Amino acid sequence: MKKILIVEDELNMVNGLKDNLEFEGYEVDTAMEGNSGLQKILQSRYDLILLDIMLPEVSGFDICKAARREGVNTPIILLTAKGEEIDKVLGLEFGADDYITKPFSLRELLARIKAILRRASTVKDENAEPEFVRVGNLKVNFRNYMALEAGKEIKMSHKEFGILHYLYMNAGKIIQRDDLMSDVWGIEYDISTRTVDNFILKLRQKIEVDPNNPKIIITVHGIGYKMILS
Ligand code: CA
Repeated sequence: MKKILIVEDELNMVNGLKDNLEFEGYEVDTAMEGNSGLQKILQSRYDLILLDIMLPEVSGFDICKAARREGVNTPIILLTAKGEEIDKVLGLEFGADDYITKPFSLRELLARIKAILRRASTVKDENAEPEFVRVGNLKVNFRNYMALEAGKEIKMSHKEFGILHYLYMNAGKIIQRDDLMSDVWGIEYDISTRTVDNFILKLRQKIEVDPNNPKIIITVHGIGYKMILS
């Protein structure tokens, strides 16, 4: 079942959309302000996101930007109000896939949703690569941000997946903290080596049999880390 997140602060709109989308066979999750919306986007997997622009706390634009920056590539449809023409253009620049102007007809929205989901699934087919790879005890699907341990899903943030993917692609090589900082976070990010180390600790908790005695992500003293895949 395709899962859709609605981030919207108007209760009537949220309820109306939720009912109708569920009726159409979608699984629906909702957030009524920016922070919780972004939180959900970064922590769960959705097939599509309906994102209002004018939200309390954090605007839809900022959510869109932040999600793309964190590597979330879920399709996003912006919900704009009448007369926000400039906003639409901005939204697409910030990585949204489409927009729809309120008030819109349900039929039009459903058509847009279907079109975007169809496009997204074609892209997936074209980039076919093995669904799951083995990392220690985990089976990991990097494209869908999914990690399973004995069939049970292990929660990981997009950043954790990003780091794990980087180490996986460079397994057997010594990775400097600087490499991780520039390649996973990007040079514009002002983060410390300590942040990197904390993420590695968190990852070890999830993938190592004994996190205090790591066998998969090992420390190379004074330099960085190395992933050992057996
Ligand atoms: Ca609003």
